Amino acid sequence: MISPNPKAINGQILNRAVLVLNANYIPLAICTAKRAICLSVMDKIEILVNYDAKVHSPSTSMALPSVIKVKEFIHYNSLNVEISRKNIIFRDNHICQYCGTKKGPITIDHILPKGRGGNDTWENLVAACQSCNQRKGDRTPEEMGMILRKQPKRPSRIHYYQRHVKALQSDWRPYLFMESF
Ligand SMILES: [Zn+2]
Repeated sequence: MISPNPKAINGQILNRAVLVLNANYIPLAICTAKRAICLSVMDKIEILVNYDAKVHSPSTSMALPSVIKVKEFIHYNSLNVEISRKNIIFRDNHICQYCGTKKGPITIDHILPKGRGGNDTWENLVAACQSCNQRKGDRTPEEMGMILRKQPKRPSRIHYYQRHVKALQSDWRPYLFMESF
């Protein structure tokens, strides 16, 4: 009989995502289960929810944390997401905001072109496929009769964390304002 290698199993589940809440329950970060267990051993956090899985060491086993809360409030006033090419594409779901394609390389388009005073802001940058970007060139969507699929907005971290919620993370939903307790 082949028994599963406990090290390999631990390795996988130790990388599972854990939602980290501030002392006031505002979502703060996502870390790995490994990091969460270290923080727990250091008595820095409280475990609020566990996954339905266990991690094993030679001497003991413990439930795998899923949602944790730091014991001391972390002064981290910004729920803003850093503006970057990667984060704009992530916000826009890898979808060209003009034609809706997901295919091909995605570029970043300045809605009001840079040469005409357009800034690098969340409201002025969208994901666009190469052909829409080229077609639009140095013009505005209005001038080209191109319609944005949605008005681009600054995302919040909460929005990003919500996108990590898969079947295994259903316990995160109330903490991310996706449903009531
Ligand atoms: Zn396009």
